[in-house]
Amino acid sequence: MRIGVHSYIIMFSLFCEQCGEETDHQPVSDSHNSPLKCELCGFITQNTMKMEKPSFKIKTILSRGPSSENGYVLAGPEEILFLNDSVITIVEDIEIVSEITGIELAQKRVNSSQAKEIMTLWTRETGRVIVKFSVHSGYRTIPLIFSYDGDEEFEVGQEISIRSYHFRITHIKMRDGLLIRRKDKKGQAKAITRVYGLVIKNVRRNYS
Ligand SMILES: [Zn+2]
Repeated sequence: MRIGVHSYIIMFSLFCEQCGEETDHQPVSDSHNSPLKCELCGFITQNTMKMEKPSFKIKTILSRGPSSENGYVLAGPEEILFLNDSVITIVEDIEIVSEITGIELAQKRVNSSQAKEIMTLWTRETGRVIVKFSVHSGYRTIPLIFSYDGDEEFEVGQEISIRSYHFRITHIKMRDGLLIRRKDKKGQAKAITRVYGLVIKNVRRNYS
């Protein structure tokens, strides 16, 4: 699964003046020049992204089990999407990890196309969801994302390794607003807004 390919559409990593470090930022609105808000402290910067923003919404029909749902995929207008690409389909604010099963232009179906040419994108849920992490290491906060089965459970105290970071979960923010701080409750990946953690050690990895 090439989840990393389109993962940048979820958040922007930017330097926050208030936090004094690089943090997750989300656009405040859908407009092209939307200010960006720091996810940690809420500070809103007027600096908009200089690079091409993946703010183009492609109308998408997501197939989930027996049903189909209307949503959209975000991409840069010039970005080229291919059949079988992993993308995130957003349905009612929920990000669903999916793969492209059809690309429909005005008159025909194709194997690849620039985002702006696409009339309708057809995707299929792969059963995995994105989980966002904010992991603290000294004075730094490292934003990480990873995909999991929606039923995968997380709990406070659990140790996880992503990329070169090995960390322990300190609390879990759920979509229903609940903040899990103790070990007595588990959160399922599909119901999690963000997992917070503390780096235990940096893992050295050998790439062969
Ligand atoms: Zn901040």
